[in-house]
Amino acid sequence: MTTQETIEIFEKFVIGNYTRSPVVLVRGEGSYVWDADGKKYLDLFPGWGVNGLGHCHPKVVAAIREQAAKLIHIANNFYSLPQGKLAELISKNSFGGKCFFCNSGAESVEAAIKLARIASAPGKFKIITMENSFHGRTLAAITATGQAKYHKGFEPLPAGFTYVPFNDLAAVSAAVDDETCAIMLEVIQGEGGINIAKRDYLQGLRDLCSSGGLFLIVDEVQTGMGRTGEYFAYKHFGVEPDIMTLAKALGGGMAIGAIVAKPEIAERLVPGSHASTFGGNPLAAAAACAVFSAIEEESLLENARHLGEYALTRLKETAAKYEFVKEARGVGLMLGMELAIPGEKIVKQCMERGLLINCTQERILRLMPPITVKKEELDQGLEILEGVLKEVKE
Ligand SMILES: *Cc1c(COP(=O)(O)O)cnc(C)c1O
Repeated sequence: MTTQETIEIFEKFVIGNYTRSPVVLVRGEGSYVWDADGKKYLDLFPGWGVNGLGHCHPKVVAAIREQAAKLIHIANNFYSLPQGKLAELISKNSFGGKCFFCNSGAESVEAAIKLARIASAPGKFKIITMENSFHGRTLAAITATGQAKYHKGFEPLPAGFTYVPFNDLAAVSAAVDDETCAIMLEVIQGEGGINIAKRDYLQGLRDLCSSGGLFLIVDEVQTGMGRTGEYFAYKHFGVEPDIMTLAKALGGGMAIGAIVAKPEIAERLVPGSHASTFGGNPLAAAAACAVFSAIEEESLLENARHLGEYALTRLKETAAKYEFVKEARGVGLMLGMELAIPGEKIVKQCMERGLLINCTQERILRLMPPITVKKEELDQGLEILEGVLKEVKE
């Protein structure tokens, strides 16, 4: 089938809620994907952050093959070893909490919101979130998201969410009242434009939560699983959350989400209070366990740290050369380049030259290379980007 024929099927039968590039992807391997016409792309934004280990990582593929032939799904009123093992891996690599599994980032945010409310004293239900945050697309998740454009047309929204500017501790303090139960944030805002929390801000939030009996919820759906050079981005800041959300890269491409909560909070999710039919099924859980193995065996946290620093240095050098580039910033392999002009055209031109990147908030180019990426691949990608920027200048 040709690209055009595939697109025609979409036009007839798939709801048009995405802006799609006219490209049909058929195969992926590591940092590369191929389209239906055989064109090869260097993918430095694979799967919107899901393909953290690149495309079809051999350890993930092997784990899926093996598990698929054994047991794909069971109901959560039985035990299965992959889910248990995965919970142990997440807990031991984070802050020793207990896990609940679901299938996506928005669902993990929903679970965190429900847990924060049910584990709080009666009458406490309000959650403070940040402007320019992104927490997903279910009704509660868009409401938690501090951007009006995601709310428009979907009102009435669930009650109890308050937004404050990011990195402004005084604003959070002022927003807390007797009904507040939690503060939720991404320690590095992804969709919001690679905005990095300040260390003393996060520590201030931690103190505010500890002294006020509030839960600190960190949404690590995008920043988790080694993206920033640590398993979870909060580790850069010397604080621990009470509840953490995960999804995207957790399953190496399989749909899986999770929350981790400190044991004394987690115990409030009793039978009947929350559930997910698919959540933590053996197939997705086995894939996620393989992601942890790969990160350990291939020293991928070190790779993300090391190559992240390298890429950021190069992006900063590039930024300094062009007047229309305001700043390059990032942590590990979560990288952004803020422009003074719209970035959509640049993304398109990169794609024409075989490089896939993203643009968020109209002016921020976003790169999230797989943490398996090689230096030569980064060099290749940064050269293509630099070439496009040079043309824009001319
Ligand atoms: C992508 C994202 C979500 C939503 O995840 P979905 O799997 O699309 O529901 C939530 N929070 C953050 C920080 C994200 O980046």
